[in-house]
Amino acid sequence: MKELRKAIVAGAGIGGLTAAIALQRAGWQVKVVEAAPTLRASGTGLSVMANAMAALHSIDAHVPVEQAGQVIRQFFFKKHNGEPITSMPIHEIGEQLGYPSLNIQRPLLLRALAQQLTPDTLTTGLRCVGYAHCPEGVQVSFEDGSTHQADLLIGADGLNSVIRQQMLGETPTRPSGYIAWLAVTPLSHPLLTEGYVAHYWGRGKRFGLCDVGDGQAYWWGTCNHGNAAEAALRISKQEVLDTYAGWSAEVLAAIEATPENAILKMHARDRAPVEQFCDGQVVLLGDAAHPMLPSLGQGAAQAIEDAVVLVDHLGQTPDLRSALAHYQARRHPRVNGIVNAARFMSGIEQAESRFACWLREWYFRLTPQSSLRKKNIDILSFKPNA
Ligand SMILES: Cc1cc2nc3c(=O)[nH]c(=O)nc-3n(C[C@H](O)[C@H](O)[C@H](O)COP(=O)(O)OP(=O)(O)OC[C@H]3O[C@@H](n4cnc5c(N)ncnc54)[C@H](O)[C@@H]3O)c2cc1C
Repeated sequence: MKELRKAIVAGAGIGGLTAAIALQRAGWQVKVVEAAPTLRASGTGLSVMANAMAALHSIDAHVPVEQAGQVIRQFFFKKHNGEPITSMPIHEIGEQLGYPSLNIQRPLLLRALAQQLTPDTLTTGLRCVGYAHCPEGVQVSFEDGSTHQADLLIGADGLNSVIRQQMLGETPTRPSGYIAWLAVTPLSHPLLTEGYVAHYWGRGKRFGLCDVGDGQAYWWGTCNHGNAAEAALRISKQEVLDTYAGWSAEVLAAIEATPENAILKMHARDRAPVEQFCDGQVVLLGDAAHPMLPSLGQGAAQAIEDAVVLVDHLGQTPDLRSALAHYQARRHPRVNGIVNAARFMSGIEQAESRFACWLREWYFRLTPQSSLRKKNIDILSFKPNA
């Protein structure tokens, strides 16, 4: 009998779990190694956009929307006081493409993906520390001193990837210049209708409010700060409330409803795009390859696309190194374009001067829905061969 090809996936985030599902369905023997003691059991929400849903569907992976998430039905851009600026045709694009965009709690998404792996695939509490090329493929080292050999190592170990560090050397993160706060909280508010998403824009600040289903809201706030990395860690709930004083009532209601210890504080960062995602029989995907600012809600979606495209190439091209080279060539134009677009959009959204904010508002007010649809449809379409 032909021996199964073996893969080690470093990191059980959204990208690593999707890659593991796709590999198992393609007949690989897979070991997923996660540094944290458990899959993330708490945390915030995120959007899983239509392109990610299409990519998951293509490998027959399921996100149980009814139990775990909420289809986005309305998507508004508003002024800080709630006055509408425009709406984004996200729901309509989803209908056109045949795949909805969702809001979901991150732990529920991780759990839903992990449940689609065969038992004993996942080892938690074990950190990958490096790799060495060997005649059989790759030897992977772990923090406890153990090593493991495989045909393929997938570095899906996120923003601070050790696999990336070894492959590419120092590639410094780039600050976003703003603090981000995130939380999921029970919230009942007349505006928080089924599938509601709104981004509220202020000067150097913004706030997002999303229905994630089951009576829960996911919210995030951002605020420009000269020393965001350090400041993010020490700001209290009261200071978050003070940051949004005078904003629309539902914004303040969401923050007020959130227990202090449920507010995650962070400084969002990305890295300058690179064109190398592989080295021998080692490959990067998701945030390990191309971390991006969250402005387009595409980080996890691109990690999912990476995983699906990678496994598709492994199936099509018998020589593993050639398959990785094809994956790299196919993915870097799309993902690097999105990294740049997310940074550009972030600059617009975090604009601080009165004039820039005025210009932004009028640009979005005057842009017809047909143009907004055209601008979004490319990103929201998963094209396995593009
Ligand atoms: C504020 C914010 C909001 C966002 N909102 C959205 C959104 O709405 N939609 C969207 O699509 N994206 C969003 N993103 C981006 C998204 O969260 C990431 O792009 C996505 O999680 C990347 O998935 P990943 O699997 O590549 O990495 P991660 O999710 O970071 O997973 C990496 C995993 O690897 C583990 N790990 C790390 N090092 C090691 C090691 N050495 N050995 C073993 N395991 C290791 C980690 O513990 C982790 O579990 C947002 C990001 C931020 C910061």
